[in-house]
Amino acid sequence: MVEVLPDVAALNRALHYVESDNLPRELCVGDVVRVPLNGRRVRGWVTAVGVEAEPGRPLESVAKLTGHGTDREVMDLCRWAAWRWVGRLPTILSAVTPDRAVRTPSQRVPRHADTERSPGLDAALVRESAVLADRGPGTHLLTVSPTSDLASVACGVASVGQTIVVVPNPSTARHIESALRGAGATVARWPGGAAETMSGHTVVGGRGAVWAPAPHLAAIVVLDEHDEALQNESSPTWHARELAIERARRCGVPCILVSPMPSLEARRAAETRGSRSVVSTARRRAGWARLVVVDRREDDPRTGMFSPRFVADARRARESGETVLCILNRVGRARLLACARCGTVAECEACGASVRSDGDVLECPRCGTVRPKVCLECGGFSMKVLRMGVTKARDDLQTLLREPVVEVTSATDPGAQRGAGVVIGTVAALHRALERSAGDPEVGLLCFLDFDQELLATRYRASEEALALVVAASRVVGGRSGGRVLLQTRRPAHPVTEAAQRADPDLLAALEWPRREMLGLPPAASVAAVGGEAAAAWIAGLRDSTRVDEVEVLGPKDGWWLVRAEDPSTLAEVAGAVERPRGRLRLRVDPMNLPV
Ligand SMILES: [Zn+2]
Ligand SMILES: [Zn+2]
Repeated sequence: MVEVLPDVAALNRALHYVESDNLPRELCVGDVVRVPLNGRRVRGWVTAVGVEAEPGRPLESVAKLTGHGTDREVMDLCRWAAWRWVGRLPTILSAVTPDRAVRTPSQRVPRHADTERSPGLDAALVRESAVLADRGPGTHLLTVSPTSDLASVACGVASVGQTIVVVPNPSTARHIESALRGAGATVARWPGGAAETMSGHTVVGGRGAVWAPAPHLAAIVVLDEHDEALQNESSPTWHARELAIERARRCGVPCILVSPMPSLEARRAAETRGSRSVVSTARRRAGWARLVVVDRREDDPRTGMFSPRFVADARRARESGETVLCILNRVGRARLLACARCGTVAECEACGASVRSDGDVLECPRCGTVRPKVCLECGGFSMKVLRMGVTKARDDLQTLLREPVVEVTSATDPGAQRGAGVVIGTVAALHRALERSAGDPEVGLLCFLDFDQELLATRYRASEEALALVVAASRVVGGRSGGRVLLQTRRPAHPVTEAAQRADPDLLAALEWPRREMLGLPPAASVAAVGGEAAAAWIAGLRDSTRVDEVEVLGPKDGWWLVRAEDPSTLAEVAGAVERPRGRLRLRVDPMNLPV
């Protein structure tokens, strides 16, 4: 008898089947099979073999063996993920299983990266990474510079044996794959290369690569571990960094986290059980762009988006044939309030978000702090709404620079940006510039037209996200020796700006941690956002549970509740014990963005 979990999320229970003699081989844990269920044939995963028959249930046979889906080790990791992010096992297994199940693992003999023969790599970085991988089990955090060559890190780590390399975006994955091949390693891309990963080849891929079966696993490396693309957007909201840490711990291998701006989560993991290292100050500095902070407090907002400094720099850049890239977020723009006398933007004194005016008081939409309508800078009583001329921004820029300006959003055809001299766009334009093909003109000037929208956003990770934008900008212009980055702001001395100018992300982290503790937000606490049509019934079930005292329930607000616990395991235990009602339930544990 074998135990099979049918691919039916609502059932979420394994059933027993007879392993029939017609199957081509013996079944093992992680196999994808087809089994009869209520008169249908459904896909399922073998979750246990050699089990006793269940009494009282008619015996049915496994109808077909499709192939290897995953292995026992990853199956156990999936169970842990279902617990940690309060999801259902079939949903997670669907994400883990390659589209085409593997009939037989590859016969090709695996070869590891050879650090001696790595042409075109950063030798110092290769060596430092190999040293980290040699340190053995634990979470080892490496702070690099924004322009550090991540392929060198991957090659250094992969010299110790089968390695899983997780990267947030596909274009970086391609670059790393070819560097690893250049260093003599045999490489499998995830997804797609499941037959190779099962026979011990090094794996490179996006967040899903963390699930690759790897029987000879020697190390896991997560590159740009701060990037939000490492978390699954829909529930269960599993995170590749957390999975990498847990998987490496279970396998007794090192987990190496790499970033120019390490997340609070990575810092904590490395401090608890591992080590921290930083590339030399000179090398780190070289990767951060030259920042020019343009203080707009004195400017009349009606003069528009473009400061005289920007216009002068942009004209000079165009005269020397360089590309100008302007970033302006139009969607979800907050209406910022500024002091009518000194121009300072009104922000929350407790958490730093921009505040809203409510009668005679100012209220923080993020933490709820209320204070009188007084400027913290000069004591002025009068506030004005900043109305930036966003809608005409492209037309105004064309007039100022006397040449065509290309506008880019996530919906724009990627080709439109290629070769353009002046671009104005959302953050999508920044990410596309990062992937630009060789031969495009260099970006000589990159300007965040309204950086306050990023600095003072009410999203709880706004400060980290703003610094991540500076990291991306530094990459686009090519670090300190490359182009300039202009920040137009009414908050010239913000910790994010300071951290970027001094190439020292620790400055921001030191302020963020106590703030998260005060607000009870991840990773200082664990939070689940609960929404969807079944949310009210689920929350009622939670309130009836015997352990409800261990969590705090907030809301509902706009259809969402927040459930907060001291740590992830308390949240997982309490929330996991609540029975799921019928209907759609969105349960987002420790998400990068909270809906309210
Ligand atoms: Zn606040
Ligand atoms: Zn003032």
